[in-house]
Amino acid sequence: MGAPEQEETFSDIREGIRRLCARFPGAYWQELDAERRYPTEFVTALASEGWLSVLIPEEFGGSGLGLAAATAVLEEVHRSGCNGGAAHAQMYTMGTVLRHGSEEQKARYLPKIASGELRLQAFGVTEPTSGTDTTRIRTFAKRDGDDYVVNGQKIWISRAEHSDLMVLLVRTTPREECAKPTDGISVLLVDMREAVGNGLTIRPIRTMLNHATTELFFDDLRVPAANLIGEEGKGFRYILSGMNAERILIASECIGDARFFIDRASAYAKDRSVFGRPIGQNQGVQFPIARAYVQTTAAAAMVDRAAALFDAGVQPGTEANMAKMLASEASWYAADMCVQTHGGFGFAEEYDIERKFRETRLYQVAPISTNLILSHVATHVLGLPKSF
Ligand SMILES: Cc1cc2nc3c(=O)[nH]c(=O)nc-3n(C[C@H](O)[C@H](O)[C@H](O)COP(=O)(O)OP(=O)(O)OC[C@H]3O[C@@H](n4cnc5c(N)ncnc54)[C@H](O)[C@@H]3O)c2cc1C
Repeated sequence: MGAPEQEETFSDIREGIRRLCARFPGAYWQELDAERRYPTEFVTALASEGWLSVLIPEEFGGSGLGLAAATAVLEEVHRSGCNGGAAHAQMYTMGTVLRHGSEEQKARYLPKIASGELRLQAFGVTEPTSGTDTTRIRTFAKRDGDDYVVNGQKIWISRAEHSDLMVLLVRTTPREECAKPTDGISVLLVDMREAVGNGLTIRPIRTMLNHATTELFFDDLRVPAANLIGEEGKGFRYILSGMNAERILIASECIGDARFFIDRASAYAKDRSVFGRPIGQNQGVQFPIARAYVQTTAAAAMVDRAAALFDAGVQPGTEANMAKMLASEASWYAADMCVQTHGGFGFAEEYDIERKFRETRLYQVAPISTNLILSHVATHVLGLPKSF
């Protein structure tokens, strides 16, 4: 079962990930989940085997592979029942530094990010009052000598407590003073080791899934102006390319989740006998599994297309959005199907179905919610009037 053409293309990567993930079985994740603990051992294993640096060019110590290879890594992590959410940002957040940082910044940070010595796991965009309307962020960085002084608040910033660096989106010019709402936004690289306790406070948020997400409070945090990425005021553009990579990679995690659910449901439906025959002999049980397979295969084709465009140097905003939407819907359908196929056992922690069910629900909301994707397609692709 699965997607044979993908298995062939990246079989070495998939095999390596399967071997690694076998060391982190369901019991490991169940224990973390109960304690809401960060999977440090899993992330360390991924980093030390080089899986988190596949997108970093060889000259900076990474393997210099494309996004398509990275999607194979994350898909297989999720298909194996593990979760890449604790580590995936180490793969793509550095893209902002790689594409828009100075030579000095790249030389200073990328080799250490590639080796895992520096964890760049945090990406600070969302704020409590602006929500998805990113141009209305209020966190402000005011230039003062050789520093920026940052004040404001962020919410849902995942892995902030487990990261040495954070890519932070701030306003450097008030929105009202800019020609366009997307102007006047800048990107700062914050050294969390220096910031925490010196103007940055991190408060964990307990959520439905174990995601190490937090709230951040900035109170006169000083960030060296040397940590500005690219030009002041142009930051919105810089993060868009990173967001496309993020959406495609998250979509591949959804495909992995969907295949996990399909694998588990197929196996269970063959094995479980009720009324004297396997439940999977009933078309009422078979068809939802088959439908999940069809939807997942179609969504995976869209993820492959978006990744191929990204690797060809195009910024596939529309394709990345469509891939994320289709994949997150396929994984959610598969999750629901898998619970139903397992009957009562779908709710038992030891089966991992309920945990994956909770985990995969996130992807229709974060990193971008379905309505915002539909709005993008409606207005940018189909030319319908803008609603906001
Ligand atoms: C576990 C978790 C981890 C996260 N990690 C990070 C992180 O590391 N870094 C980070 O920056 N952010 C992170 N986020 C934030 C995430 O990206 C946002 O939650 C998401 O983009 C949605 O924004 P919001 O929650 O502000 O929803 P809102 O913008 O308030 O929207 C709420 C609902 O209304 C809908 N909606 C809003 N406006 C419209 C409209 N005009 N038309 C139609 N529908 C509309 C949305 O689709 C959504 O369903 C995380 C979130 C979660 C839950």
